[in-house]
Amino acid sequence: MESPRPIDLSVPTAGAIQDHRWVRMGSFELHWVESGDIWLDGGAMFGVVPKTLWSRQLPSDEKNRIPMTMRCLLIRSHATGKLYLVDNGAGNKFNEKLSDIYGFEYGPEGEKSLQASLARAGVAPEDITDIIFTHLHFDHCGGTTDWIDEELTHVFPKARYHIHADHFRTATEPNPREQASFIPDNIEPIVAAKDRLSLVETDASLPFEYEPGLEALVMNGHTLGQQLPMISCGDQRFVFVADLLPTAQHVPLVWVMGYDMFPTQTLKEKEEFLTQAAKEQWWLLMEHDRNHECLRIGNIDGRWKVIETATLAQLEC
Ligand SMILES: [Zn+2]
Repeated sequence: MESPRPIDLSVPTAGAIQDHRWVRMGSFELHWVESGDIWLDGGAMFGVVPKTLWSRQLPSDEKNRIPMTMRCLLIRSHATGKLYLVDNGAGNKFNEKLSDIYGFEYGPEGEKSLQASLARAGVAPEDITDIIFTHLHFDHCGGTTDWIDEELTHVFPKARYHIHADHFRTATEPNPREQASFIPDNIEPIVAAKDRLSLVETDASLPFEYEPGLEALVMNGHTLGQQLPMISCGDQRFVFVADLLPTAQHVPLVWVMGYDMFPTQTLKEKEEFLTQAAKEQWWLLMEHDRNHECLRIGNIDGRWKVIETATLAQLEC
């Protein structure tokens, strides 16, 4: 086999949003659901890595923010008839001040909003049977509810909410450092919807099986009980990497977010994950990377690098 080579990450490979389509993967079909762009502080996004290094990879704006996105995933199961949504973005409940801080953008005609994206996939909110929350930080679960007639209303009336039990405890009794990521208008309605809640109980050593071919890996470094949905098609694996690897620039081992609760735990999890992902040539599906939808990684001279990128539409299996 030819030895892997790193690729130039400054060349965007994400497809235009109107090119998103249903993509067959074994007994599933997948479709990206954009829920808007977001700008986050570059320093917080790269932890101990100096700005002189990260800004060469991902230049920041005048507020020191880097461009990111919130790309969610629909998974339709032909075996069970379920329609899963993985995460649902930041939602529309922010006041002007916070919207300005995070620079939410939904495209010129709002075509990058959650609602418009679902419509493009031919999906109505009531079609969603299950929502898998990777975790409940505000940019992952804000689309669950919206203010309708001055009432906080559930957007997906029939969906079961799947949250890891350890994460649910963290979100409902947050430590002061993580508290700002859990917005009461997001968390309280989810907690109150007791009959829809499914708390996932498994430890990090054992993936949780939603159904054959759809599992979740559990990670505890970014926050306790982060779920990374993994789809199998034959011997191929496709993993939605959420906040374990928010962007392609986070592939090098120590490029870990300052937002992580347990960064040394992240290092351990990341090393194990990258080792297996490289060995088995997993495709990583990127939630926050504005420029890259899917990537593969390799180890080149002892360093983890991106060796291949693709759009989801190119990965039919
Ligand atoms: Zn997070």
